[in-house]
Amino acid sequence: MQYINTKASAQEAAISFRQATINGLAAEGGLYMPANIPQLDKEWLAHFAEHDDLDIAYTIMSALVGDSLSASALRRILQETLSFDLPVIHVRDNIHVLELFHGPTLAFKDVGARFMSRCLSEFRSSDTVYVLVATSGDTGSAVAHGFHGVAGVEVSILFPKGMVSPFQQYQMTSLGDNIQAIEVDGTFDDCQALVKQAFRDESLSDMSLSSANSINVARLLPQSLYYALAYKQMLLQNKQDKLVISVPSGNYGNITAGLILKHMGVPIHRFVAANNANDAVYRYLQSGQYAPQNTIATYSNAMDVGAPNNFVRIQHLYDHSYEAIRRDLSAHRYDDQATLEAMTRYYNEHDYLLDPHGSVGIMALEASLQPDEQGIFLATAHPSKFETAVKLAVPSFQMDSVDLTDCSKLEMAADYADFWEYLRGLG
Ligand SMILES: *Cc1c(COP(=O)(O)O)cnc(C)c1O
Repeated sequence: MQYINTKASAQEAAISFRQATINGLAAEGGLYMPANIPQLDKEWLAHFAEHDDLDIAYTIMSALVGDSLSASALRRILQETLSFDLPVIHVRDNIHVLELFHGPTLAFKDVGARFMSRCLSEFRSSDTVYVLVATSGDTGSAVAHGFHGVAGVEVSILFPKGMVSPFQQYQMTSLGDNIQAIEVDGTFDDCQALVKQAFRDESLSDMSLSSANSINVARLLPQSLYYALAYKQMLLQNKQDKLVISVPSGNYGNITAGLILKHMGVPIHRFVAANNANDAVYRYLQSGQYAPQNTIATYSNAMDVGAPNNFVRIQHLYDHSYEAIRRDLSAHRYDDQATLEAMTRYYNEHDYLLDPHGSVGIMALEASLQPDEQGIFLATAHPSKFETAVKLAVPSFQMDSVDLTDCSKLEMAADYADFWEYLRGLG
């Protein structure tokens, strides 16, 4: 399996999964994609419900990883990665929830972060690898936990001041050791710009820099397993026909992994992108014009991305055809008020406590789902991570508060010169 740069003008040669993981970002700011989407065996697909979860994960990931990992290494990594439940639960009528928050940081990015950290540790040469990651909240927590204590990897996490929840901040700043959290006086897009500039900076080329954002193929691709394992659970209940999956989307890594899985042959009917006020893809699907915008802060802060990085991967997957994208993907957008209202409604009427991301996800599914379809929305984070919104929507719900006193972080302006100084101090 070879990986190519989505930016054709860069004329970068195709490389292995291993090299794409190490590089993170492709030349000229492009992203890596599989050169061809591998096709799953029809006979194997016909018996999908009979395969055990680890075999499903192995078959899918070995097709994507190729010979970059030995069979035994890949099996071991998958076993360590998928060590918690991913249940599909019936909510009402033809609506189900895939709960992705049973991992160590209570949000879906645990799977990608655990898979990637173990790949990097396998792939590195003797040098220390410096992982740089910009986060709007949950990536940072998942990467901090996924990489904590992994040998030869030093992690720097940049998060926007005042825009992550106390719980998320706790998870990024409480570990120490090889994990350094940096609070940037700016937005998520500022954090992302600092990281991108460091990757392009020739004066840092002696350091082995790597990313852990969803731009990295080793973070992005294992997320396809969520959809595969959800499909299996629906198959076991005979509800697999016309399966529609609604994905609360920010940087569009998770939904891209789902679309890739569909292209590999797993028969998911279509996808819905659930947007908050950061609605660049919603507007694209309405108009055919892609116009990224500045980030707007919302309660579903892990989706506060004005210019979604992975959108170019979706365009690449569909040969830049607007019509083809629209056949598989629709989008809906909701503001904070609607987000709180759906949280209240589902708690009162269906006894289900949503977090703000899941709330946007279920609304998009409700709006899109037809009576002859089965729907799943992804609950991407546990509600306890979003105290402010839960308190407003469901005041009767009791939650523990978070103590940040023993945590450590660096504070920094959104200024590349300062970030450069910091990086030079590392190695
Ligand atoms: C990261 C995240 C999202 C958005 O996922 P993308 O892959 O960036 O689209 C949604 N919800 C939660 C809780 C997240 O952490």
